[in-house]
Amino acid sequence: AIEVRDLHKRYGSNEVLKGIDFHVDAGQVVCVIGPSGSGKSTLLRCVNRLEEPTSGEVLIEGVDICDPEVDLDAVRSRIGMVFQQFNLFPHLDVLKNLTLAQRSVRGRSKAEAVEVARRNLAKVGLADRESAYPAHLSGGQQQRVAIARALSMEPDMMLFDEPTSALDPELVGDVLAVMKDLASDGMTMMVVTHEMGFAREVGDKLVFMDGGVVVEEGVPSEVLSSPTHERTQAFLSKVL
Ligand code: ATP
Ligand code: MG
Repeated sequence: AIEVRDLHKRYGSNEVLKGIDFHVDAGQVVCVIGPSGSGKSTLLRCVNRLEEPTSGEVLIEGVDICDPEVDLDAVRSRIGMVFQQFNLFPHLDVLKNLTLAQRSVRGRSKAEAVEVARRNLAKVGLADRESAYPAHLSGGQQQRVAIARALSMEPDMMLFDEPTSALDPELVGDVLAVMKDLASDGMTMMVVTHEMGFAREVGDKLVFMDGGVVVEEGVPSEVLSSPTHERTQAFLSKVL
């Protein structure tokens, strides 16, 4: 589970997160929406301390990751992350992309890493592409490889930052289908997305952020069909 308490993040005089309370329970899928610059990525990046919070608490399975005593590498290795840009290693084939961190971070043998990699490639529908280089795959395939790579570390939770925003429209569905399967398997997920259909269908909770605060949150279908705050209404009227 993820729990964020009164999180503030400031860049110089620009306060980007102004006291966020946010949680994702084990097995839940929480979708985060909001206008550009509202702080969605910053929040997500604070969850595994890719960004240093200015104040507040981030608890991962009850452990405050801002505690100087905490083993940050150990915490991070339990949190899978998928970005808008797939960030695959271009000079490595798919299988190597999936085995590298398993071997260096998890200390797995080559045989074990390959077995785990193949299982996860099958899960994302790319069992036949293990020898391909990223440049020879479509964006949707690259993103599914990135998901399989994250899963190969066998994380307890997954963070997604607009995983389909860089994709051609016809490739979005395959990636969302993989994420939906993952949700059905019980993965704990935080998903920043503009895919309202996904949020409605798969999300347990929808969080609307604006100006560095959580303006509104609730059951996705309810927030989408009858938002209570004016700012949520204004945002949804533009994107729906
Ligand atoms: P988008 O939908 O465009 O991805 P977002 O909601 O993810 O937007 P953030 O990327 O979290 O928004 O950015 C929130 C604010 O923080 C923006 O005003 C941005 O300019 C600022 N910001 C983000 N990262 C930095 C940084 N490293 N240094 C300074 N300012 C930053
Ligand atoms: Mg962002």
